[in-house]
Amino acid sequence: TKVDNCVQELLELDKKYFLHPTSPIKQQQDQGPSFIFTEGKGIMLTDIVGNTVIDGMSSLWNVNVGHGREELGKVAMEQMSKLAFSSCFATFSNEPAIRLAAKLAQIAPGDLSTTFFTSGGSEANDTAYKLARHYWILKGQPNRRKIISRTKSYHGVAMGSTNATGLKPFREFTNSFDPDFCYADHFSTEDLRCVIEAEGPDTIAAFIAEPVQGAGGLHVAPKDYFKEVRSICDEYGLLFITDEVITGFGRTGKYFGIEHYGVSPDMMCFAKGITSGYAQLGGVMLSKNIHQDLMELSTGTLLHGYTYSGHPMACAVALKNIELIEQEELIANAEKMGKEMLKGFHWIQGKCRIIGKVKGLGLMGGLEIVKDHRTNESFETPVAPLIVAEAAKRGLICRSVVFDGQDTVVFAPPLIINREELAKLLDILHETIVAVE
Ligand code: PLP
Repeated sequence: TKVDNCVQELLELDKKYFLHPTSPIKQQQDQGPSFIFTEGKGIMLTDIVGNTVIDGMSSLWNVNVGHGREELGKVAMEQMSKLAFSSCFATFSNEPAIRLAAKLAQIAPGDLSTTFFTSGGSEANDTAYKLARHYWILKGQPNRRKIISRTKSYHGVAMGSTNATGLKPFREFTNSFDPDFCYADHFSTEDLRCVIEAEGPDTIAAFIAEPVQGAGGLHVAPKDYFKEVRSICDEYGLLFITDEVITGFGRTGKYFGIEHYGVSPDMMCFAKGITSGYAQLGGVMLSKNIHQDLMELSTGTLLHGYTYSGHPMACAVALKNIELIEQEELIANAEKMGKEMLKGFHWIQGKCRIIGKVKGLGLMGGLEIVKDHRTNESFETPVAPLIVAEAAKRGLICRSVVFDGQDTVVFAPPLIINREELAKLLDILHETIVAVE
């Protein structure tokens, strides 16, 4: 039929012309895409042959307000019709970018008050490292160049953010082993102190961490971890940067993930949830002090900026998206549904042999897969990818993490998810685990 022909044509075109991001190259060549999505509504996605699945990952941890929000499409269209683009370089500006920066100052933790906009999270991270280094040049300490990040961290794929990423395969992919980037154990502040001492405190510009590690396997830091990090950074004079690309905008049940730990950073990177994926936008926020120092000490031009820094349409969409998050009380819902999700995971763990540790904060959750939870012994070959494949067949999208010998399935459903939808997600997950074990 006509539809079959169209699907066949798209499969072939995809294999031939489209190099997918973060993809299994050979498998894509052989089999083509597993889903060609055509529509989204709420927590559901529909593909070209009519399969409907639960988007248990909010796509890439980012579609916080759910799919098919016409309010956001309307705002984008209005802004694009009025002023699709104008530059924010030098002294040019536009209203959505100004209003969004002001709104961010209102909702951000601590005294983060000034925003530099990018098009996504990788650019946000690279911007933070560059601004940190520039800051130290202005402060008369140009040797402070190094960035310390954590094992199991993911910070993106630009050159700086690749180097900061603690997951080794991402660095090995391009032989990225810049000696200005070093790594401390993700949970041990003792190790952070050792790395600082070994590298030399006066060579270090900043320490960066995700409040909850997502792509690296869903790791929630110990309760006092970030308080100790904050005090170590102060002790050695390092800037403390949080990467809130996943954890920002309600994902963990608070506006920003670091709020769970009662401290605030000197800089904060964000992206993803700020627009729920309806436009490409990220950025870095600076504390009042850092901003003031930059203003007072700068003599020349800020030689860092992207064409799309402060894109008017993206900023207009972000403003509306934040309005929806607030109006619909999605942060409180993320907290409530997150607790339900964890309860559901524990229930499944009680019924299934292969569920080991259960982890989560707000609507970020992870299940460690083991041979038998009584012994905690791992499988020789990771089983999480089989679970993900089986779940997809049964109508649920989730994701596996197998880096560093891990065998974990992760979840991050949209923040609009309700009780019935969550129950459905958990039902499919339970059936899937039973089928796999
Ligand atoms: N930082 C974190 C914590 C992320 O999870 C990601 C993406 O998943 C990034 C940065 C990179 O963001 P982007 O893919 O928008 O460049």
